[in-house]
Amino acid sequence: MPLTSPRPESWIKTTSAGLYCEPGDFHIDPLLPVPRAVITHGHGDHARPGSAQVLATPGTIAIMQQRYGEAAGGSLQPLAYGETAAEGDVMVRLVPAGHVLGSAQIVLEYHGSRVVVSGDYKRRPDPTCEPFEPCNCDVLITEATFGLPVFRHPPDSQEIDKLLHSLALFPERCHLVGVYALGKCQRVLALLRRAGYEEPVYLHGALIGLTELYESLGVPLGPVLPLTGVTRDALKGRIVLAPPGATADRWSRRLPDPLIAMASGWMRVRQRAKARGVELPLVISDHADWDELTATIDEVAAEEIWVTHGREEALVHYATQKGYRARALALTGFEEDE
Ligand SMILES: [Zn+2]
Ligand SMILES: [Zn+2]
Repeated sequence: MPLTSPRPESWIKTTSAGLYCEPGDFHIDPLLPVPRAVITHGHGDHARPGSAQVLATPGTIAIMQQRYGEAAGGSLQPLAYGETAAEGDVMVRLVPAGHVLGSAQIVLEYHGSRVVVSGDYKRRPDPTCEPFEPCNCDVLITEATFGLPVFRHPPDSQEIDKLLHSLALFPERCHLVGVYALGKCQRVLALLRRAGYEEPVYLHGALIGLTELYESLGVPLGPVLPLTGVTRDALKGRIVLAPPGATADRWSRRLPDPLIAMASGWMRVRQRAKARGVELPLVISDHADWDELTATIDEVAAEEIWVTHGREEALVHYATQKGYRARALALTGFEEDE
């Protein structure tokens, strides 16, 4: 960063509505409706309805429109990956974050200083979205959902094999997999197809809209069917995807001898799987694990690391020990589960 550049904390501030870029006069992933918002991705704790102007990738805008309709925002401005928009004196660029379809890191340049807001991200390949692109910067504002050394996610192919193996072992049981509606559902479908599973997969009603949206945006997911009108017997030996909440409640009783699975980075924690009644935990995460977080910090050559959204302390400690200036940002309103 040139010596004349303003200190990053003088132009990027934490406010009650979230991260605020003062010279550009916009918030990033605001908690409340604001006049101008730049959104990293479509998950509900990042993309909230009601802002007057919204800047995001075309994918994120499509997701917000699907979820919120008219309330997605007063005016919606799509910005493709790699393109630049001028907001006041600040140049804004969106770069793939590898988290879910449309997810972006926000690259901000102001008087020679560059700040990257990672949003949620992962480094592993995901057939349903563009891969994370590391971006050199002066300040990296990184998420830390799995910011502890115990979190090391296994290869996703290994977890999908577990599911297919269980299906072969228990051909009479319906395999009910808990997945988040945006991202995880579609990634599990794509991974099943990649593993050679060609049977139709049954979807809980809450998952159908976004799955159709992914298909319409060019992500092939193979045959999927709604559960309406399907007999109990027809679901023996089938895979059913449902939101995590539905796996534990009355809804699942209509399924034949359901074997409860869940696809989440949190399945690494055995007590969590147990508490949710999960028989088959699948550690499939859309967030960077510890190795991905630390590798990213080392790769982008930032002088400063600001950590938010999860377990900040361990990552701040890591970065400090490596000689970076690091601090935890006290931002609220983000959920550890999407
Ligand atoms: Zn997210
Ligand atoms: Zn998040």
